[in-house]
Amino acid sequence: MNREKNAQFIFVCPKQNKFFEGSDFTIFENRGVITDKAGNKTLDAKVKIDQPCPFCGMKHVYHVGELVCPFGG
Ligand SMILES: [Zn+2]
Repeated sequence: MNREKNAQFIFVCPKQNKFFEGSDFTIFENRGVITDKAGNKTLDAKVKIDQPCPFCGMKHVYHVGELVCPFGG
């Protein structure tokens, strides 16, 4: 089974407001795709980084909607 090695996401450090790339993360609390009141579909899940932030050393947690995918996904 081939695992995509180039799946990089852009994360932002909330402490220092700097961006960094990471590929080690875990999706949890995944409730699937939801539709909000405006009719926009979003994935309702959270992402936990499995590597320490290069700026502050913490393992940040984000909502999927906060993430920026470099591939425009
Ligand atoms: Zn940080």
